Amino acid sequence: MSETTTTARTLLGAATSDTPITAGLYIDGQLRPSATGRTSEVINPSDGTVVATVAVADEQDVDAAVLAARAAFPGWSGATPAERSAVLTRFAALLEERAEEFAQLESRQGGKAIRLAREFDVPGTIDNVAFFAGAARNLEGKATAEYSADHTSSIRREAVGVIGSIAPWNYPLQMAAWKVLPAIAAGNTVVLKPAENTPLTTLLFAEVASQAGLPNGVFNVVCGGGSTVGARLLRHPEVDMLSFTGSTGVGRTVLEAASTTAKRVHLELGGKAPFVVFGDADLEAAVHGAVAGSLINAGQDCTAATRAIVHRSVYEDFVQRVAALYEQVRLGATDDPETDMGSLISQGHREKVAAMVDRARGYARVLGGGIPEDLPAEGAYYRPTLVADAPADSEIVRDEVFGPVLAVLPFDTDDEAIALANDTPYGLAASAWTRDVYRAMRATREIRSGCVWVNDHVPIISEMPHGGMKQSGFGKDMSTYSFDEYTVVKHVMYDLTQDAAKAWHRTIFSVAQ
Ligand code: NAD
Repeated sequence: MSETTTTARTLLGAATSDTPITAGLYIDGQLRPSATGRTSEVINPSDGTVVATVAVADEQDVDAAVLAARAAFPGWSGATPAERSAVLTRFAALLEERAEEFAQLESRQGGKAIRLAREFDVPGTIDNVAFFAGAARNLEGKATAEYSADHTSSIRREAVGVIGSIAPWNYPLQMAAWKVLPAIAAGNTVVLKPAENTPLTTLLFAEVASQAGLPNGVFNVVCGGGSTVGARLLRHPEVDMLSFTGSTGVGRTVLEAASTTAKRVHLELGGKAPFVVFGDADLEAAVHGAVAGSLINAGQDCTAATRAIVHRSVYEDFVQRVAALYEQVRLGATDDPETDMGSLISQGHREKVAAMVDRARGYARVLGGGIPEDLPAEGAYYRPTLVADAPADSEIVRDEVFGPVLAVLPFDTDDEAIALANDTPYGLAASAWTRDVYRAMRATREIRSGCVWVNDHVPIISEMPHGGMKQSGFGKDMSTYSFDEYTVVKHVMYDLTQDAAKAWHRTIFSVAQ
């Protein structure tokens, strides 16, 4: 942290200019320094260079952001769906124009391979904005009708109010979009805290939203730590709902904090996705699927394949073929489009991943892994790692590693495969690999997770919901299902009789009848 009050007034174009990037908090439609003037550096974890200097909020800044969101709420929630849709349509178009800037910033602040940022993070975000531009006009409810002979009932679907959102570092831009889009499409206003190490694309996202015509105060960004800025947001009396994406541990803190003012909560938490390969599967497809599914974003993906549960008849073949393909994955400079996999988010996180793999060497067979010696020592790189033969109750199989590590377990019967798939506190995503339609149907029915892919692993799509079961949280991101989180359904009932003494009153008192 350092003391400075110099803050750029815009991040537009900053990613592609040579001027050092300085950014403020985004409150009430402008980038501004924090009340204390405190800043911190955003470091590129792939080479240790400074990407930007960013303002760090304190409680006063959170209060100012919440106040701005509160003030903007009546106007924005009162806008027609068509008006909200028009802003989001322009927003999607402006994002498209700035796609490369977003990709560069996302890659640099997260140590992400530029190809992933260009082909996954940024287009996925733009599509999400475009989807919600349409969905804003499709909020539905039950038909207005006479469900009692004496009344007409109608449904109002109303915005919840001010949403306090907290996002993780693994997909900063997409997570911001997933948190903000359904909320504002439905008429809410938002204060979002990005992860402390990856605030840049979220700030730029907010600025472009303003440029598209989003009124001041509808989308505010406060940067800083979880236990300070995050904690204030969680407990703020003027925040109506908390929407959190992050680890299950912090998710519990969010739930506790929400209880103090009975806030509505939406939680997207950790995962430990099973990848079940039945004996009849197309093994070539499963091997490729396992490599892509486990190494996406260097394995720092809550839905990444982390536990391959493989029929014993093809187990060793699968292990050897995945390990061989892992060897071919190119680690390297993140701005090189030829690089397949970037670095982990930090040296500290790499230490955690490496320590888990090292402990696994004591009880399992480890293929690959380790810190590459031919890449910059400042970079937090870690090689793809396959861990075979680990006991089902071992740390590497049960706990979230959040790195490029795939544990592989054998099974003999379908019952055993399903039981292993479900043998975790998490329930976010899973996949089943088989050519047998009945096996596929059983797996999709019996595996307890928010998504089950058949013969694929990872693809997401704006029209379909994303969200967990069990300790992976509750509520949905993306799709129109997310409106269930961000709207309150209000029943309005009109008397039809005009009677002073209504027929049903006699249940309570009969004098007037
Ligand atoms: P994290 O839980 O450590 O942090 C997430 C956010 O919470 C950050 O912004 C952090 O600053 C904030 N935070 C931390 N402590 C806080 C506190 N006491 N009060 C308020 N805010 C606090 O998670 P992370 O390491 O940033 O991200 C990785 C985790 O996120 C993994 O567990 C991953 O599975 C999960 N994740 C889940 C999904 C999903 O959709 N389910 C998506 C992406 C990531």
